[in-house]
Amino acid sequence: MTSPLDRLFLLQEVLLEVDQKTERRGRTPDHLVHIEAAYHDARRQRDAAGAILSQAGERKKALDGEIQDFNEQMKKYQQQLQSVKTSREYSALLNEIDGLKREVRIREDELLSLDETMAGSSTDLDRRDEEFPAEEAGYEEQMKEWRAEQAVLDAEIAAAKKRAKSLRAELEPRLLKTFEQIRKKRAGVAVARVDMVGPQTAACSACHVRLRPQLLSDLRLSKETVFCESCKRILYWIP
Ligand SMILES: [Zn+2]
Repeated sequence: MTSPLDRLFLLQEVLLEVDQKTERRGRTPDHLVHIEAAYHDARRQRDAAGAILSQAGERKKALDGEIQDFNEQMKKYQQQLQSVKTSREYSALLNEIDGLKREVRIREDELLSLDETMAGSSTDLDRRDEEFPAEEAGYEEQMKEWRAEQAVLDAEIAAAKKRAKSLRAELEPRLLKTFEQIRKKRAGVAVARVDMVGPQTAACSACHVRLRPQLLSDLRLSKETVFCESCKRILYWIP
C-alpha cells in the first residue's frame, strides 16, 4: 500500500526523468557538433545560391517589363513625330525619345550584369546540388547512432509521461497543485526526503537544514503534509 506522499515522490522522480531525457535528446553530442554545423552550413550555402538565382530571375522579369513599356511609349512618340506642326514640338518629342532610350540602355546594362550573376550562381548551385546528396548521406551516416539513441529516448520519455499521467490521476488535486507550485520555484524538486543525521536529529535532504523535534514528530504521525521550514518543500519521511 503506497501513501499519497510515496506516489508524489515517485511522480517527482518520473518528471525529473522526463526533463533530464528531454534535455539529453535535444543536445547534440560533442563529437557530432562540428559535423552538424558543417552540414547546416552546406545547406545554407546551397539555399543562398538558389535565392540569388531566383532574385536575379525576378529582377530580370521586372526589367524586361519596364523595357517593353519604354519601347511602346517610344513607338507612340515616333508616330507623333510625323504629325507635329512646329519644330519646337518636334524637338520636344525627340528629347522625350532620347530620354526613353537612355532609360532602356540603363536597364539593358543591368540585364547584362544579371546574366553574369545568374550564370555564376547557376554553376555554383549545380555543383552544390551535385555534392549535396553525398554530403547529406555522410552526415546521416555519422548521425545514425545518435538518431537511434534519440529514438530510444523518445520511447522512454513517452513511457515516463504516461506513468506521470496515471500517477497524477491517483493524487488529490489540492496536493498536486501545491506540488506543482513548489516544483516550479524549486527546479523540479518539490518533495524532499528527510535524512537522519543523528540518533534523534533529522534534516531536509534538499536544503540540509535540521528539523525541529516537533516537526519530526509531526512527520512520524504523518497527520498532514509537513513542509520544510527553511526551503518550504514538502517533507517525505520514510520510516
Ligand atoms: Zn529544506
